[in-house]
Amino acid sequence: MPFTAPAIKSFQPPRRTLMGPGPSDVPQRILDAMARPTIGHLDPAFTDMMEEIKQLLRYAFQTGNKLTFPVSGPGSVGMETCFVNLVEPGDKVIVCVNGVFGGRMVENVKRTGGIPVLVEDAWGEPVSLNKVADAFAANPDAKVLAFVHAETSTGARSDAKALAELARKHGALTIMDCVTSLGGIPVLIDAWGIDAAYSGSQKCLSCTPGLAPVTFSERAIAKVQARKTPVQSWFMDLNLVLGYWSGEGRRTYHHTAPINPLYGLHEALVMLAEEGIENAWARHRAMHERLKAGLAKLGLRFVVAEAARLPQLNSLAIPAGIDDAAARGRLLTEFNLEIGAGLGALAGQIWRIGLMGYSAKQANVDYCLKALEAVLAVEAQPVAVI
Ligand SMILES: *Cc1c(COP(=O)(O)O)cnc(C)c1O
Repeated sequence: MPFTAPAIKSFQPPRRTLMGPGPSDVPQRILDAMARPTIGHLDPAFTDMMEEIKQLLRYAFQTGNKLTFPVSGPGSVGMETCFVNLVEPGDKVIVCVNGVFGGRMVENVKRTGGIPVLVEDAWGEPVSLNKVADAFAANPDAKVLAFVHAETSTGARSDAKALAELARKHGALTIMDCVTSLGGIPVLIDAWGIDAAYSGSQKCLSCTPGLAPVTFSERAIAKVQARKTPVQSWFMDLNLVLGYWSGEGRRTYHHTAPINPLYGLHEALVMLAEEGIENAWARHRAMHERLKAGLAKLGLRFVVAEAARLPQLNSLAIPAGIDDAAARGRLLTEFNLEIGAGLGALAGQIWRIGLMGYSAKQANVDYCLKALEAVLAVEAQPVAVI
């Protein structure tokens, strides 16, 4: 007996408003771009578009780095690409941990055979520059400093420029996670002297998930080329990926690029260039201010101190007496609105409201405030005692 065909129909997703930690709302213009005809990944028309993506990404990252391109995979693959290429077995890596994503960096270092040296700060705090300076003093042989610019699990921004300066002073390379910062707040790769950075397509770039923009400085490339051991990952080995992404006029097959998602990223980056990146940063800031004013009226409190607060990721303390899951469930079912739950140590204690990319607009902020007000009013009702 052959297996019978399941009677499943085409999937029709509900229409949601996405105001969590990513994905953010994807504009129709980007979805339309992704619906254009699929062509071959070595087609000259396609490789011309790849060159444009690289150019547009250099603008987004504010860098002249030649080696700037999107890795095929989500932000986590961008993270691994940086670690597997830049960390060799035995290399000491100072890793700043002030939330979930710093913790993942530690895992990456261990799996590449590196030796992680942890600099820990409380969740919700930025990375402490003094602690990093102390870690370098105690570990002058550290080869790399790794940190998360915008910690999405808490909503805290760290001082990337000062961290990169410390690393340079001690002769170490920097690996920076800018998954949530790229396109939302300034990310100045060249001005700050960052050696390797990775991001994601679905946060402030408002594209669909699945692509990870990365950029590498000349110093980073020199380190990869001087490796004594081969990169453990065949798929992420920059020496091989580059044959496809940069072999001018003689590109070779490495893996089949995700063609249509790349059309989407191209469109998202064209939209960023049309808006102007400074205007995009200003818009995220203005929408954050609007949200902040509304939240104050509702009596909701921010978790992160004002100076380190990310405009695109707003962490709030869940008010006493409110059931986290019930309230978020109501927002989703009654308002088609997604906000983020707390992760790890902050699960059940905070909500995370994302104002990322296309979601950072007045209509979304006002809708979110209205929905929160309604849900809090209902959820705060004392349970009737009969
Ligand atoms: C979302 C995120 C990641 C992981 O990206 P994925 O696309 O989910 O793999 C890494 N770092 C930070 C700071 C993030 O916000």
